Amino acid sequence: MSTTTLKRQIVRIDEALCNGCGACVSPCAEGAIQVIDGKARVVRDELCDGAGFCLGVCPTGALTIEVREAAEFDHEAADAHAASHKEYIPQSCFRCGANEDAVPLVPVRTAGTSTWVCTRCLPALIHG
Ligand code: SF4
Repeated sequence: MSTTTLKRQIVRIDEALCNGCGACVSPCAEGAIQVIDGKARVVRDELCDGAGFCLGVCPTGALTIEVREAAEFDHEAADAHAASHKEYIPQSCFRCGANEDAVPLVPVRTAGTSTWVCTRCLPALIHG
């Protein structure tokens, strides 16, 4: 089977900056990122849609979006991979501790760190 490649946006991981914390794994709905040998990696280009939901949670700035020649994003492969993906690191709201299974979380930068806030606490952050 040949893979179609094209120039497109895709996540880039700076290995020198990555500390292997794993915070970027859960935001990727496609399961494209895994921590292997202590470093985050895009396991297969066709699983990364380049949306960049992982970027906001990286505490070290290791994640960026680049434009390069890469395998075309494959929805079917991503769905199949996500369904079989076992590495799930649940996150919780930094304010109230609510788990993402209880309430939706969104990434946020605060006080120089990247973290998660739940949609119940988000209005208080916005309005003070
Ligand atoms: S969030 Fe950043 S530092 Fe943590 S594993 Fe992912 S790329 Fe590495």
